[in-house]
Amino acid sequence: MIDPFGRSIDYLRVSVTDRCDFRCVYCMAEDMSFLPKAELLSLEELERVCAAFIRLGVKKLRLTGGEPLVRKGVMGLVEKLGARLGQGLEELTLTTNGSQLAAQAAGLKAAGVRRINISLDTLNAEKFAEITRWGRLPQVLEGIEAAKAAGLSVKINMVALKGVNEDEISSMLAWCGAQKFDLCLIETMPMGEVVHRAETHLPLDGVRRRLGAEWTLTPSRHATGGPARYWDVAETGGRVGFITPLSNHFCDDCNRVRLTCTGTLYMCLGQEDAADLRAPLRASADDAGLEKAIVAAIGRKPKGHDFDITRPAVARHMSLTGG
Ligand code: SAM
Ligand code: SF4
Repeated sequence: MIDPFGRSIDYLRVSVTDRCDFRCVYCMAEDMSFLPKAELLSLEELERVCAAFIRLGVKKLRLTGGEPLVRKGVMGLVEKLGARLGQGLEELTLTTNGSQLAAQAAGLKAAGVRRINISLDTLNAEKFAEITRWGRLPQVLEGIEAAKAAGLSVKINMVALKGVNEDEISSMLAWCGAQKFDLCLIETMPMGEVVHRAETHLPLDGVRRRLGAEWTLTPSRHATGGPARYWDVAETGGRVGFITPLSNHFCDDCNRVRLTCTGTLYMCLGQEDAADLRAPLRASADDAGLEKAIVAAIGRKPKGHDFDITRPAVARHMSLTGG
């Protein structure tokens, strides 16, 4: 699938639920209301939509949310999608807060998942509780341990927050290096109303310069098909990636679109335009109408976002579209 700007779209992110067991301050409001369960696509329907995307050329699928591992029965979906690896699908991955990994990591590996992203903004238990509101660090560290023990390759996602965890970025890099995890730093994005987002926004170009004074960083050839730009870290043998949607956006080589748990397809994280795939999906057991709707949506993928950290670019929170 080629969009109007000549970009090949081969990566689908699927938010399997908008619900979560955490309430991270930059992601959600404390009193979030969630979608009525009746509006959700069933897991079978999600699989059908994914299968249509794979037939149309999607090679990489990432399950996300909300917290993907809190959706009841999600492992069945992972297994079904895993069975499509090697048949058009080249990679199946997941982004998780890690809270359920102690129980699920081995199952993910058995289903064909090889790499996962785990969000971890701090190694300080008190700060972790403040940032996630409802999360507890020991549970997540146990989940990370389980992922490692299961043989999953782990990348840690850390949202860089001014005055909150910016003093921990270097020590997180050292910890990830020792664990053999890549680290990916993320700038906050203005999605949905939350408190204090603009005040804690930390541009990553300055962070990279400061890290460069402490660590030997050289541009890496490593690319994951996502938006991060990577640097090799000589001292650890690992890598650090930077996702900089605001200070240096990455729209020119965007290769992805995002499906919500209600079957809405967003062609850009930072724009409101969307396509309803639920209606064509439910209109017929044959997928011709669904495929037509997907191709039409890709045909109007916007050039990029125009994020401004002082106001939400879109009303929906990141947890709906999936990070
Ligand atoms: N619950 C899972 C997790 O936390 O990894 C998956 C969904 S979460 C929305 C995906 C990623 O988006 C996480 O790494 C999270 O830190 C990041 N994220 C959430 N809201 C964000 C925002 N407003 N700006 C930048 N990153 C955000
Ligand atoms: Fe939940 Fe992930 Fe959002 Fe945190 S970032 S509230 S873990 S969806």
